Amino acid sequence: MALHGEYDPDNIFAKMVKSEIPAIKVYEDDVAMAFMDIFPQSEGHTLVIPKHEEARNLLEMPPEKLGPYMERVQKVAKAVEAALKPDGVTVMQFNGGPAGQTVFHLHFHIIPRWSDRPMSGHGSSGQADPADLEAVAYKIRNAF
Ligand code: AMP
Repeated sequence: MALHGEYDPDNIFAKMVKSEIPAIKVYEDDVAMAFMDIFPQSEGHTLVIPKHEEARNLLEMPPEKLGPYMERVQKVAKAVEAALKPDGVTVMQFNGGPAGQTVFHLHFHIIPRWSDRPMSGHGSSGQADPADLEAVAYKIRNAF
């Protein structure tokens, strides 16, 4: 998908906001929602999306909405750190298919990193067991 185009209100993340498909949520308020990535690149891989903006990517986000959203990205990253005690945290975000984006609703990836564990490549990890994701999500929810 191109860098710019029509926002699809039925993309999977928009459907999660509307509770039309399930999400293993760790955080939600009026600005943002965070949930476990079901193809995690490392244990605790979490996604943070804006809830009410029809922005396909960072470039389309209204600048005045960026500050509140990025506060939530940081808040979730801190909770992930507090819950899982990683050695590092990768925060990443892709804009447009050629850049690696596969879901066209703005999101930041929060990926805990450990010195002795490699991170899987983007789009090359297998689907996680929902029970394992729920166990990690429980720890993150309790770290806010
Ligand atoms: P990106 O490739 O940057 O657009 O990231 C999209 C992310 O969404 C990928 O890391 C996928 O593993 C993840 N993903 C796809 N479908 C789901 C889903 N149903 N629930 C949670 N994460 C998903």
